[in-house]
Amino acid sequence: MNTNLENSAQILRMAVPQMSALNIPVTPENYAIWYQYYAETNLSLKRAIDGLLANEVEFTASVNQGLYNNFIQEQSPEVIENVQIETQILINSLLNKMGQISTGTDDFSAHLSEFSHELQSEPTPQLLNTLVNNISAEVEKVVSLNHSMKADLATLGDELTQLKMDMDNLSKVAMTDELTSLNNRRAYEIFSTEQVSLFTQSQIPCCLLMVDIDHFKSFNDTHGHLVGDKVLAFVGFALKQSVKGNDFVARYGGEEFVVMLPNTEFKDAMTVAESIRERIAMRQLTIGKENKQQLGHITVSIGLANIQPGDDSETLLKRADDMLYQAKSSGRNCVKG
Ligand code: GH3
Ligand code: MG
Ligand code: MG
Repeated sequence: MNTNLENSAQILRMAVPQMSALNIPVTPENYAIWYQYYAETNLSLKRAIDGLLANEVEFTASVNQGLYNNFIQEQSPEVIENVQIETQILINSLLNKMGQISTGTDDFSAHLSEFSHELQSEPTPQLLNTLVNNISAEVEKVVSLNHSMKADLATLGDELTQLKMDMDNLSKVAMTDELTSLNNRRAYEIFSTEQVSLFTQSQIPCCLLMVDIDHFKSFNDTHGHLVGDKVLAFVGFALKQSVKGNDFVARYGGEEFVVMLPNTEFKDAMTVAESIRERIAMRQLTIGKENKQQLGHITVSIGLANIQPGDDSETLLKRADDMLYQAKSSGRNCVKG
C-alpha cells in the first residue's frame, strides 16, 4: 500500500463506524462528505459538521444532501474523482484480503476439528480423558468464534461490494453530461489520450470531429434557453444515431460536441461528418405535441482532423478546432478537414 492508500484506509476506518453511529447511509455522496471531513482538506465542511455534531443535529437525508450540495459539489471534479479512485483501489484490496482470511479460517477450523477427533479416538487413562475434554471444549470455542468472525467478515464483504457498486455508479455520473446523456468533456479527454497512445504504439488511425451549432446564440434569443436545451439534446441524439458502436460521442461544452472515430481513415471520417451535417440540417424542428410550433432548421459546422505522428490530444484538438474555424468562415453548414 502506498501512503495515499494507507491514508484512505485510515479514513475509511474512522468514517464508516462514525457514519453508522450517526445512522447515515453509506452512499457515495455521504461517503464523500465524511471522507473529506476526516481528510481535513475541506475546512468549511469540517467547521459545518463540527457545528452540527456540537448541536446534536440529526443527520437526516436533507441535512446530508445540504452538506453535499454546499461543500462537495462545489469542489473541483478532480478532487472527487481522486477520492473515488483511491476508495475503489482500497475496497478492492480489502475484498482481496478478506478472501484470504476466510480461506485461512476454513483451514484452521478443519485442522482443529481433525485434531480433537484423533485425540478422542485414542484409548487413554482418566486424566488424559479430562485433558482431551478440555481441549475439545477449547476447540469448540475457537470453532464457534471463527464462525461468527466469518459471518462478520461476510457482512462486511457484502457492504463493501455494495459500496464498490455505488462508487462505480458515481464514476459513471462523473463522466456523463446531464443534459444530453452523452459522455462529458472529462470522458472525452480520457478517451482521446487513449486513442493517441494507440496510434503512437500501433499506427491505428483515428479521426476527430468537432461539431459546433451555427448561430446558436440567436436561436436561443429567438426561442428561449429551454428550447435551446432541447435542441442540444436533439443534436446529441442525432450524433449518436450517425455513428457506430465503437465511435465515441461527447458534449465538449456549450453547443460544441466532439466525435472520435477509432480505426477510421480520413476519407471515411469525411463521409461520416457529411452524413452528420446532412442529418441535422434536413430535420424540420418542432416543439409541442398538439399545437406544434415550428422552429425551422438548425445547422452545424464540422472540423475534421486525423491523429498524426507527434500528436498529443491537445494538438489533435487544436487542428480540428482550426478546421472548424475554417468551416465557420466559409459560410457554416459545412465540413472542413
Ligand atoms: P457560431 O455559428 O459562430 O458558432 O455562432 P454561435 O451563436 O453558435 O456561437 P457563440 O459562441 O457566439 O454562442 C454560443 C451560444 O450557445 C451561446 C449560448 O446562447 C448557447 N449555449 C451554450 N451552452 C448552452 C446551453 O447549455 N443551453 C443553451 N440553451 N444554450 C447554450
Ligand atoms: Mg461554439
Ligand atoms: Mg456555435
